[in-house]
Amino acid sequence: MRITSHAPAKINLDLRVLGKRQDGFHELRTVLQSIALHDTLSFRDRAGPMTVRSRTPGVPRDRRNIVWHAACELWKALGRRGTPGNVAISIRKAIPMAAGLGGGSSDAACALRGLCSLWGVSPQLSDLRTVASHVGSDVPFFLDGGMSLAYGRGDRIRQLSELEPFWVVLALPSFGVSTATAYSWFDADRPSLGEQTNHRRLPRGWRRRMQVLVNELEDVVAVRHPSISNVVAALRAAGAERAGMTGSGSAVFGLFTRRADAMAAQREARRATWRTVLSRTIGRSEFARLTSADR
Ligand code: ATP
Repeated sequence: MRITSHAPAKINLDLRVLGKRQDGFHELRTVLQSIALHDTLSFRDRAGPMTVRSRTPGVPRDRRNIVWHAACELWKALGRRGTPGNVAISIRKAIPMAAGLGGGSSDAACALRGLCSLWGVSPQLSDLRTVASHVGSDVPFFLDGGMSLAYGRGDRIRQLSELEPFWVVLALPSFGVSTATAYSWFDADRPSLGEQTNHRRLPRGWRRRMQVLVNELEDVVAVRHPSISNVVAALRAAGAERAGMTGSGSAVFGLFTRRADAMAAQREARRATWRTVLSRTIGRSEFARLTSADR
């Protein structure tokens, strides 16, 4: 049997770092939105040890791949012994890596769904959420997609009412930023957390909210990579409703109501020699369609 499924990316519309936790993670409050850009994974029965393949340079093909980790956690949660076998997984990447677009985490959630189908098991959703949170902080969000508030270390999810649809211009620099590095910069630059904008409530209504959305990692990353601020400014000048860095970077996004404006903004971002991708926000039902497995 062979199953193919998709793993959509996310952007962080808002991200606030509330403090450092005892377990070493940061306490977050972030608004996540899924977008149409996606990786494609396939899962196939094949005798022998589990394999993970990808043709994209930089994608680990062993236990360092988060998909591998997801398979092992699911196997364990199903009460099975040893490590999973008799499955070949292939990953076709379209989501840029180390960009703050959650590609690895979405691949992991996709693997949980795909392997449940392949193995003919249907765990309770609450159990699957627990497995997902063991795999990684962003993974639980990618079980449902749409727009959610993530809190705790990012693994606790509250679904928010859907955002009106937007075109999304992604601007991608030639450098990546690892999540661990971005947080270490944050800790170095912002040693006294707490008195900032963190706890401010978001105003009602998305038009008004757009004005106050922030990503508190953006400044600390942009100090080291000033081109980030230039591209955010260029997207704003091109009429973006909101522009900013996503997650821990390095990608920058702009939201547009009209496709023509988004395409004009792409041309501006390219002038800064950044690669661009045009995508769009997707709600929960489209996310469910895109991620349902094809046999
Ligand atoms: P996040 O927004 O969750 O911080 P990111 O989008 O910035 O993540 P990813 O693309 O998920 O970053 O990957 C970061 C690193 O994880 C990669 O550089 C790669 O070495 C490793 N990795 C492990 N598994 C995968 C995978 N399936 N896809 C991409 N990268 C993976």
